[in-house]
Amino acid sequence: MNSVLTLACLVLAGGSASGADTMPAAPVVAPALAASLPEDITTPEAALAELKAGNDRFVGGEITEEVKEGKKLVRRERIVGKRARTLSTQQDPELRERLAEGQSPFAAIVTCSDSRAMDNLIFDQELGRLFTIRVAGNTPGTIGLASIEYAVKHLGSKIVVIMGHSRCGAVGAVADSRGKPLHGHMHAFQEHMAGLLDAVVRDPNETDIEYKGRLEKENAIRQAQAVYDRSEIIREFVDNGKTMVVPAKYDLRTGKVTFFDAIEGNPNAGHEH
Ligand SMILES: [Zn+2]
Repeated sequence: MNSVLTLACLVLAGGSASGADTMPAAPVVAPALAASLPEDITTPEAALAELKAGNDRFVGGEITEEVKEGKKLVRRERIVGKRARTLSTQQDPELRERLAEGQSPFAAIVTCSDSRAMDNLIFDQELGRLFTIRVAGNTPGTIGLASIEYAVKHLGSKIVVIMGHSRCGAVGAVADSRGKPLHGHMHAFQEHMAGLLDAVVRDPNETDIEYKGRLEKENAIRQAQAVYDRSEIIREFVDNGKTMVVPAKYDLRTGKVTFFDAIEGNPNAGHEH
């Protein structure tokens, strides 16, 4: 991680240089933020906290970095542009080389194929940190379930996030079809979202976008519950508190991810392994 530290130092030095007033205004790039390494994330709670922190970095706003000499606080610097981790590490050859030896992604993310719902960016996580299943409508299906099981059981992922998003075309298509089969293979959206339209009753006072927004949230919750219900392996890990399955929804406009209640496990299930 030396190159990351070096970049951080350069940026800090540049920002406080005495000749700053004579230099053209450069885009402010935040230094690499202290974030947990995947191997340091040992609990589902820590994994969730890192995803929330990463999404905060992506959304933007301000952060304050404390500049210290030894233990003494010298000054606080306001820094904008929170996507610092991926900006400064995405082309890090050292990281690539290290990861070639093995991966331990702390989170498995099921997200829609939508070009705007890209989990690495949204959670500000670079190579090796997220194990991603992307499929339109964020409905994992059998191969998706197998991928989640692999991430949790063999790679040690501490959280599984099923992330829907606003203005989802797949959910919208299912809603607009009103039960009439969609063309080609797209009828699979309807099969994988079976029961969704019955579960969310349309309110005559709401707009189309509001209605579909509720469908998107409900779909994420139902898909998360289905992961737990359908996979014995995931059930065991959730029941033993080793991983967490959490539905979420990404807002295309704000960049914010809202996390809903984690799927409840059964601590008394008594899995034998
Ligand atoms: Zn979508």
